[in-house]
Amino acid sequence: MTERIVQTIRTVPELRDAIVARRADGATVGFVPTMGALHSGHCALIERAASEHDVAVVSIFVNPTPFNQASDLEQYPRDEAADVKAAAAAGATICFTPSVEEIYPAGFSTRVQVRGPLTETLEGQERGVGHFDGMATVVAILLNAVGPDVAYFGAKDAQQALVVRRFVTDLRIPTEIVTAVTVRDRDGLALSSRNARLSAAGREQALAISAALQAAANAISDGSATSPEAASAAGVERLRAAGITPEYFAVTDPATLEPASQLSGRLLISCAATVDGVRLIDNLTVSANREAATANV
Ligand code: AMP
Repeated sequence: MTERIVQTIRTVPELRDAIVARRADGATVGFVPTMGALHSGHCALIERAASEHDVAVVSIFVNPTPFNQASDLEQYPRDEAADVKAAAAAGATICFTPSVEEIYPAGFSTRVQVRGPLTETLEGQERGVGHFDGMATVVAILLNAVGPDVAYFGAKDAQQALVVRRFVTDLRIPTEIVTAVTVRDRDGLALSSRNARLSAAGREQALAISAALQAAANAISDGSATSPEAASAAGVERLRAAGITPEYFAVTDPATLEPASQLSGRLLISCAATVDGVRLIDNLTVSANREAATANV
């Protein structure tokens, strides 16, 4: 794709002015929020936003609040120049790169909290019920700042996308939320900014995560698993064979994230595990009809 001229903007008023000016010409706006360290997964979202809208805004902001550990925040890769270049190559027209003070000025006191199974299960159970509060708060701020017609999120963070859908609905934010398929390396590893921290051996071991999700999906589609627990067991066995003990490996309803009670309809299979000192998450959606099992998101 040809590189477009990308405007880098650091403040909310400037961002609003730039978007108001484009909207005056009838432009529509697509938005991709990111924490930078852009890879092909992010770029696929940006390409989609750019192909569907006149203006494609990408935010690059490492939100300090969802990090449970200071070291995780410190280790988060940052290279703004490379990110802006990658975003431009993918078709971005505006890169919004605010400072922490721009997003959280003195006196900032608000939190967006989604409660219920959507935030209590899976990542919420492992990382605490408040884990999504920081993400929800910053995404709400960004959606208000950008005012996009459509915002794009990756299915790799399926729970995050569901939480965003929930508060966007509840707060009547007039933005459509699109969840796009997970981009993977050829060998199945879901792309993640964290993969850069894996050693060669760790990367090899991490392949067991997508393989385990696939093993559970296969057990559902070929009928060898007759219950959600049996499907999970197939996945966990695959992980154990690779020396990995998952934090969770769950078969749930893809809309509510409640544990699946039976193998019917669409199911979300999710996994989190630390490999080589790097915490990784992945998931895929399957249809529990034998012929129709799909395993690409
Ligand atoms: P992050 O920078 O990790 O906050 O991610 C920004 C957006 O990119 C989120 O909506 C993620 O779900 C999405 N994303 C991250 N990895 C992938 C991937 N491998 N495929 C598709 N989308 C992704």
